[in-house]
Amino acid sequence: MTDLSALIAKHIRQDIQSMHAYAVQDSTGMLKLDAMENPHALSPDLQAELGKRLGALAINRYPGSRVDDLKAALREYAKVPEGYGLMLGNGSDELISLLAMVCDVPGGSILAPLPGFVMYAMSAQLQGLKFIGVDLTPDFELDLPSMQAAISLHRPSIVYLAYPNNPTANLWDDAAIEAIVELQGEQGGLVVMDEAYQPFSSKTYLDRMTRHHHVLLMRTLSKFGLAGVRIGYMMGPEKLIQEVDKARPPYNISILNAECALFALEHADVFAAQAQDIQAQRGVLLAALAQMAGVKAWKSDANMILVRVPDAQKTFDGLKAQGVLIKNVSKMHPMLANCLRLTVGTAAENSRMLAAFTPSL
Ligand SMILES: *Cc1c(COP(=O)(O)O)cnc(C)c1O
Repeated sequence: MTDLSALIAKHIRQDIQSMHAYAVQDSTGMLKLDAMENPHALSPDLQAELGKRLGALAINRYPGSRVDDLKAALREYAKVPEGYGLMLGNGSDELISLLAMVCDVPGGSILAPLPGFVMYAMSAQLQGLKFIGVDLTPDFELDLPSMQAAISLHRPSIVYLAYPNNPTANLWDDAAIEAIVELQGEQGGLVVMDEAYQPFSSKTYLDRMTRHHHVLLMRTLSKFGLAGVRIGYMMGPEKLIQEVDKARPPYNISILNAECALFALEHADVFAAQAQDIQAQRGVLLAALAQMAGVKAWKSDANMILVRVPDAQKTFDGLKAQGVLIKNVSKMHPMLANCLRLTVGTAAENSRMLAAFTPSL
């Protein structure tokens, strides 16, 4: 019999052995407001139509030209600039991993503001690249002098800027962003603008991207309404995209995922209306939170709201006991002490969440 512990100790990297697996909270039977999912399900009509399309696919074949159709549809949907390339990932999580892989040159590193999206640091760690986290200011703005100092000192391969940021939900100051993009360009590095929350955001970097040749723009269909489908995409100067695309597993986009995404883009109006509803509900939720004693809520350009309460664990547990699942981010970073992240749901879901939200108890 093989001794599995000995086998693991010998062959699995020590840093992986010490890692905790990414924890997905069990949400069975709960009102799920923890993961920035679109709360609107597909209508029965659209379900039936999609079912027919999926049933007719040649699942015995490797994914083929439907994936190219999806790339073309996304190019049009996102208005990708002339001369720019677009590549697909199995969620933008995969794109983030691929970027770490292709940028793994000796001395390479990845830099991002903190608190931020965990995959930036995780992709660096898994690839054996140095990760440099630079704290935001206490009001979650970019700390420009600290960012500039860190970029000059470490000369990172990639600077990630989430626009808007997760979990703070805000858009950072455009002048600070531009100063960082320019400095990172001067020192010969890349910038990745991560626009996962673009459907709910008042701004995009898309029209500014073409001023630079070292900026990539990443988006996903997850927050749009297809979190279960796993489609992320990244645009950038054609030559740069071609290099990153070489590291992509050849059939990373399943034919089912491609067909689902094409179907959703054909019904983009339905999803746009949902995004509009979510933005309106975000306003309602923010207004209600502003009335609550002891609660601080930050402004949001995403489908989530970051709040600080007197005792995050107590409030989280209270919600959970009433069947409402949110995300307790208070242990993620010292700056997020007693903070909770609420995903914006439907009007009815938000009312239920607010009724169960008792920060002062
Ligand atoms: C959710 C999220 C992503 C990744 O989503 P995928 O589902 O992997 O496409 C990327 N960046 C940020 C900032 C996110 O919040």
